[in-house]
Amino acid sequence: MARVPEETIELIRNTADIYDVVAQYVDLKKRGKNFFGLCPFHSEKTPSFCVSPDKQIYNCFSCPAGGNVFSFIMDHEKISFIEAVQQLGQKYGIEVARQSGPSNKIFSSLYEIHDIAVKLYHNILFSEKGKAALDYLHKRGLTDDTIKTYQIGFAPDSWDTLTNKIKSSSSFKDDVYEKSGLITKSSRGSWIDIFRSRIMFPIYHPSGKAIAFGGRKFNNDNPKDPKYFNSRETPLYRKSEVFYGLHKTRDSIRKFSTAILVEGYTDFLQLVQLGIPNVVAICGTALGINHANQIRKFARKVYLAYDGDSAGRRNAIKAGYVLFQAGVEPLVIPMPNDKDPDDWVREEGANAFQEAMGSSMSLLLFHLENKDVKNLSDVKLSSTVKEILKEISLITDEIIRDDLLKSLSKELKWSEDKALRLFNSQTGMKRVRADSEQSNTKDQPFTNNIMQKAQLEIIRAIAFNFDEVYPSMKNIIDFKEFDEPILQKIGELLIEDKKSTAIIDQFENMDEKRLVSGILFDEVSFDDPQLIIKECFSTIKKQSIKDQIKQARIKIRELESSGKDTKEIIIEVTKLQESLQELTENIETD
Ligand SMILES: [Zn+2]
Repeated sequence: MARVPEETIELIRNTADIYDVVAQYVDLKKRGKNFFGLCPFHSEKTPSFCVSPDKQIYNCFSCPAGGNVFSFIMDHEKISFIEAVQQLGQKYGIEVARQSGPSNKIFSSLYEIHDIAVKLYHNILFSEKGKAALDYLHKRGLTDDTIKTYQIGFAPDSWDTLTNKIKSSSSFKDDVYEKSGLITKSSRGSWIDIFRSRIMFPIYHPSGKAIAFGGRKFNNDNPKDPKYFNSRETPLYRKSEVFYGLHKTRDSIRKFSTAILVEGYTDFLQLVQLGIPNVVAICGTALGINHANQIRKFARKVYLAYDGDSAGRRNAIKAGYVLFQAGVEPLVIPMPNDKDPDDWVREEGANAFQEAMGSSMSLLLFHLENKDVKNLSDVKLSSTVKEILKEISLITDEIIRDDLLKSLSKELKWSEDKALRLFNSQTGMKRVRADSEQSNTKDQPFTNNIMQKAQLEIIRAIAFNFDEVYPSMKNIIDFKEFDEPILQKIGELLIEDKKSTAIIDQFENMDEKRLVSGILFDEVSFDDPQLIIKECFSTIKKQSIKDQIKQARIKIRELESSGKDTKEIIIEVTKLQESLQELTENIETD
């Protein structure tokens, strides 16, 4: 495995600021000594994600998330420790030199394969084999500049173009091939390309790394092949939360706190090319709540610029309500009939689009107009209203819900009472919650039994009162008596004078990192930490003696039932009982 010198890691750890790093992704508000925001690792509406600048760690009170600067980047960007170190090194201008040796982490390999594929397809597009595809893109109005910025490529009509390139470039293992979602094993057992005869749109993680492709059919008459085809889900690519283009437009979206959401790659490219910077596209899937939660990190308002056909309008309505659920205000840009944003701006220009943005509609109005409510029969109106009320019931934010009910009554020229009554009667008892977060606070680890609790208390008493307790209690403190390996390791690291943020890096496993930061996050104040430590060690000792007695008694029964001599072991039990007695008296007379 590649290694980075410990001093470099430490330098970055000491330079990077947890607030600074997290605030790139999460809107943080100060509360007391700490900062709170909506957790980027689970979906929630009340902030339970907490950042401690003092300790340089973060912790979520509702999900397992927790850690330091490195684990935040690892968890958020789905990259390895080394890669997180490099990324932060770059951010803070600290050079990270590797000490050789290939990294065998699956994520790095998958990123590498995607990187190879992006370059290969892009080069082919600008070669003889890609000429027709390139001509087509030019005809669609895309400039070379745009094509290069977004690394658009072409996968030729061949079974092994990418396969051969990957095989010759590096020695990946078969499981990496399989997990890449770019090549697959044929029925004859050889590796073959998945994407063939397709214009390739690389899909990037916000960090700027390619993680998947969207492929558009090109020069292929097979009616069985779909027009658009995306990478399947892989360890890198989770369709439910990835946007196309966000890696380039995120900063603009954040700046305006507004995003324009489109359905297609070329819609996106066309708008960006025309100088509209805050666009983002969903790739080949419907907008889900995870998408909406993602977008809320950057934007309070989203303009939906979906296709002007009936499917596009339906999708826009669906997406709009999902955005509401995440607390983002959706507005709909009405698209001319049967036009998509791509065609439209090519014909009318950016100005027309921006004007349309100015006259965008509220989602509710768009929904009602799309149903043509003014001309509906009573029966159809009733079912439309029911459909809308059902959507409103999924929104947990009361203010948004009330607003929508008010607007609905206004549009239908109803009294507010009537809409509310209908809402209550329809949704009343069974008001559906969009998610069940709120209630589930994180389980406290290591609180299952008296042994665990004692060990946890000792760790906390030492961690938060180190200077006060450690020098005078060195002789008593012995972590070998711990039977929880994680707590034992934390203890040993604490006395090596490691700070909580550095301790986290000594654990490789992400779950352990989370666990450790959870333990070290919550500062507990102890009236008398020395006494706590003493008592807890005594508890541990007593418990361990009790366990030994228990074991010995079982042994005695076994020996008795087989008619063997038990004298020796009975003496042992007596001794154990004496030492137990002694321990109890010691504590009482202290
Ligand atoms: Zn969380």
